[in-house]
Amino acid sequence: MTEPQHQFTLFPRRRHTKIVATLGPASSGAAEIEALLRAGADVFRLNFSHGAVDEHRARVAAIRRLEALADLPIAIVADLQGPKLRIGTFVAGAAAILEGRPFRLDSDAAPGDATRVCLPHPELFRALAPGADILLDDGRVRLRVTGQGSDHVDTVILSGRSLSDRKGVNVPGIVLPLTALTPKDRVDLSAALDFGVDWIALSFVQRPEDVAEARRLVGGRAALMVKLEKPAALDHLDALIEMADGMMVARGDLGVELPPEEVPVAQRRIVAAVRRAGKPVIVATQMLESMISAPTPTRAEASDVATAVYEGADAVMLSAETAAGAYPVEAVDIMDRIARRVERDPGYRRGLDMEVFPPEPTSADAITAAARQAAQTLGAAAIVTYTTSGSTTLRAARERPAAPILCLTANTATARRLMLSYGVRAVVTPDIHSFGQMVDRACALAKSIGLAHAGQRLVVTAGAPFGTPGNTNTLRIAWVG
Ligand code: PGA
Ligand code: MN
Repeated sequence: MTEPQHQFTLFPRRRHTKIVATLGPASSGAAEIEALLRAGADVFRLNFSHGAVDEHRARVAAIRRLEALADLPIAIVADLQGPKLRIGTFVAGAAAILEGRPFRLDSDAAPGDATRVCLPHPELFRALAPGADILLDDGRVRLRVTGQGSDHVDTVILSGRSLSDRKGVNVPGIVLPLTALTPKDRVDLSAALDFGVDWIALSFVQRPEDVAEARRLVGGRAALMVKLEKPAALDHLDALIEMADGMMVARGDLGVELPPEEVPVAQRRIVAAVRRAGKPVIVATQMLESMISAPTPTRAEASDVATAVYEGADAVMLSAETAAGAYPVEAVDIMDRIARRVERDPGYRRGLDMEVFPPEPTSADAITAAARQAAQTLGAAAIVTYTTSGSTTLRAARERPAAPILCLTANTATARRLMLSYGVRAVVTPDIHSFGQMVDRACALAKSIGLAHAGQRLVVTAGAPFGTPGNTNTLRIAWVG
């Protein structure tokens, strides 16, 4: 592994929509991670469905070294596997199956064949009433339940040709008696918190209680992201948004359980609801899927990334493209180009300006909305916020302003978490004690990180008395000298 050694700069990024890159075998060394960062990745995701804890630990260490060299906060998301259901194995590694034939899922660990296979989740059998559909291998095989017992379900094969070892199992539309955190997740969670990730992503959340339990375990040491990949979770969308710090539209598993035509509609609804709540939302999975093996995307994929950007998502995500693909850097580069191109489209700005969510009746929202308006009227170079918890900056991002949001904070963890949010460039500044100091520091920083040049204006929000959380009540226009 080559170690990064030289200071480098990555600004100005000039892009509001953030890019999340998943790390894996194709992108594990420090040099590879640095290349993704330079190409435009803002956030890195560790997928705990794959890889050993020690590999993830090494990636975190490499990212933190790069973070220091680039002098840029970087958000790291630990994505827990969750209760992903899988079948057992087959005698020959796989079995041909035939439409119309019966097929049994049972508790017997013995390798399966064309008539049966193990489903090592006995708690499921009771939840699967006759008539329910079971999808295997990302929907390539569909079974319909015809009967059940305490240790098996009998089904008829509706579609599919073959099944192989450990393929995934989805049961659309049924709330399963499973918690969102498996024993493996608990081990991974505690390791991830130990090596200092910024976000924990929870997979296959079904109910608000699933989030409450994770919240207790995380205890403020990381922000909590809920992945929406179960249609059942959509019935509790508002409650889940309320309990989470951010959301992911996890279209991979969601798209197995929902018919294809429902996925874009769900995406739009989720993005709008999360934005309204003022929390970050990621659109994920298959965005540039063909780039796993090709150096350029299909035009339909380019359009998919563009759609998420037009919808005002905080971030777009790459999964296998950067984790296991042949062109990880090219994938980030193209995502970056698509997002920047859309953001330059006057129609993009008009769209966002038309659907600004009304401010809530708090002084923070009143000041934040005024800041957006002032920045627009003046063509200000940036909106500046000062935050400890991150909340003031999140309210500014909720406005989706045209100007970048320069976030000053004394808190490194806050700065890192906020890098996922729309338009936010966070800077850790430990020693600000007054509004005057903050304005001076903001002007100097905006210049040194390339957000503003001399003669431009900044719109600065803060609270007086300075540094008391939750009292944003002041707005000042400052000239960059
Ligand atoms: P995964 O989640 O990549 O962990 O499966 C994302 C998705 O399902 O879209
Ligand atoms: Mn998933």
